[in-house]
Amino acid sequence: MANRKYIVGNWKMNGLQAQLSDIAEIAAVAAAHPTVDAGICPPVTLIAAASQASPGFAIGAQDCHFAAKGAHTGCLSTAMIKEAGATYSIVGHSERRADQQESDADVKAKAEAAHEAGLGAIICVGETEEERDAGEAIDVVCVQLSRSFPDGASADWLTIAYEPVWAIGTGRVPSVDDVAEMHAAIRTKLAELMGQGSDAVRILYGGSMNGGNAAELLAVPNVDGGLVGGASLTAEKFGPIIEAAGAF
Ligand code: PEP
Repeated sequence: MANRKYIVGNWKMNGLQAQLSDIAEIAAVAAAHPTVDAGICPPVTLIAAASQASPGFAIGAQDCHFAAKGAHTGCLSTAMIKEAGATYSIVGHSERRADQQESDADVKAKAEAAHEAGLGAIICVGETEEERDAGEAIDVVCVQLSRSFPDGASADWLTIAYEPVWAIGTGRVPSVDDVAEMHAAIRTKLAELMGQGSDAVRILYGGSMNGGNAAELLAVPNVDGGLVGGASLTAEKFGPIIEAAGAF
């Protein structure tokens, strides 16, 4: 049986208090599509207000630290984001892997810390354009997934997001065949890594998904949803993606 579609918006470093109304509008669209799991990961400064304003709508964090507490200036523990109202966290986004030099081991530890705190985790993996051009995309992503994979994983808290780095924020999207090939490879790798229960782990596609291409991408086998950046900032843009997911 196919998994419920899961559509998550990653607001990155966008959003002030004035944009809380956009989250409320998006939550209303999500409520109108109860067969879809939808959520927004706003900047940390908006998590508490967003989760209070839209109870029942899944608010997440964009990152968390793997340590429970300590001398990590500027970082946030899983307990802190949970207390603010997040129910899950993205970990290992390619922007953090590049900008903050996060390693696969860091990502694994962050996912395990999220689970320990009772949070879900969305682990991001994806190849660069050079790696794809060299024919290495599947190998690179499978190695990244294996090394970032948390101990004790299960589908009730773990989600994988395949995000080709070259497709993020560029308006470029891989072909449907390439997405199908990669998601099938990730599904096979998940079976190797966790055995039983791996079919229920949702694999999201991320990278320039929008209202115009969502239906086609979401129809690809093993694409269980989307991780969406730019097109998640307003209900006008994000709503059609949730609606497209509702058709499955
Ligand atoms: C992302 O950063 O996770 C993302 C998918 O961004 P965009 O949709 O803007 O490509």
